[in-house]
Amino acid sequence: MQHKVEFFRHNIGDEEIARAMAVLNSLFLTTGEEVSLFESRLAEYLALPHAVGLTSATAGLHLSLLALGVGAGHEVITTPLSFVASANAILMAGARPVFVDVEDETGNIDASLVEGAITEKTRAILPVHLYGSMCDMRRLREIADRHRLVIVEDCAHALEASRDGVRVGHLGDTAVFSFYATKSITSGEGGAVATRHGRCAGGLKMLRSHGIESDAHDRYTRLYRHYDMVLLGWKYNMDNLQAALLIPQLARAEEYLARRSLIAARYEEAFSRLEGVSFPHVPQGARSGRHLFTIQVDPHLRDRLLWALQERNIGVAVNFRAIHLMSYYRETFGFQRGMFPRAERIGDSTLSLPLYPKLTDGEISRVIEAMEESLAGLKKG
Ligand SMILES: *Cc1c(COP(=O)(O)O)cnc(C)c1O
Repeated sequence: MQHKVEFFRHNIGDEEIARAMAVLNSLFLTTGEEVSLFESRLAEYLALPHAVGLTSATAGLHLSLLALGVGAGHEVITTPLSFVASANAILMAGARPVFVDVEDETGNIDASLVEGAITEKTRAILPVHLYGSMCDMRRLREIADRHRLVIVEDCAHALEASRDGVRVGHLGDTAVFSFYATKSITSGEGGAVATRHGRCAGGLKMLRSHGIESDAHDRYTRLYRHYDMVLLGWKYNMDNLQAALLIPQLARAEEYLARRSLIAARYEEAFSRLEGVSFPHVPQGARSGRHLFTIQVDPHLRDRLLWALQERNIGVAVNFRAIHLMSYYRETFGFQRGMFPRAERIGDSTLSLPLYPKLTDGEISRVIEAMEESLAGLKKG
């Protein structure tokens, strides 16, 4: 058997390890200067004035809603085709997720359905830029402005994305990033929120550490003074070790994207010749973050194809099965199959293939061959 083509391999190397070592050899491990440096580099990369380092994107979605005044009694419009975090964060904030269906072509929230889901309780829209391909933010901003809603962008796949000249976070009120183990830059666990609004950034900084008005770094580096807690916050602050791992990777984000784009182009070229296989399309005028390469096959073949690829030692994943069909959502809110048919169809037919800079040319060929052989095998019997 040939070696396994892993589903994902991170890019942490000597530079990241040396930076992390410097933090370990320093006095201060938690939120301090290394985090501040990462925050300013991230803000600069995104061309936004503020970024706040957190422990996860889930934390970022949760705190964004709180900082923007979304809570009990409110509704938030979002997509059913995402990782559960995007809808769970709405529940964590005490609000209620209202799903609208997605576009067939991209899997992103269908902006033309959003207005129909707005009620007097609606306070926010939470779009997810799925697989790295941006939602129609110009359209969503127009709708939000007309109804005085805020927008929290889930950019867990879309650090590098833009569309129609608009980058992530430039039309939304906050943009939320994940540095989870399989994301394009990673510290194992980690996240951040970037925002155009200074007041919101200040709120996020308090909310990430129990609602205390000074952070630990201030308390330790200045002369002791008593601190006050002014609102109920959470414990979501990024630490210096996470920041040390992320700073060098952020500097190479464009290089990584270029390699992923090349791999995606090779897959698209090969799979457009395969009968019964389709893949999402990046809209005209959009620059995808190319976070995931997904294909779609007949739902009856999907799970068999997953096993056939794994038998050939290819790492695979499913991103994502529709959130409203998860047991908790069905049982708590009475969601059923048939409510969001396009999200369900994609959820039942999608499969993700390896896509990361360290994937070698030989491994790309093996994935393509494994796809061809597996599909031929499944069609025969
Ligand atoms: C990974 C992911 C998240 C959650 O990120 P964490 O940092 O693990 O909390 C949220 N939304 C989407 C779309 C994701 O893929």
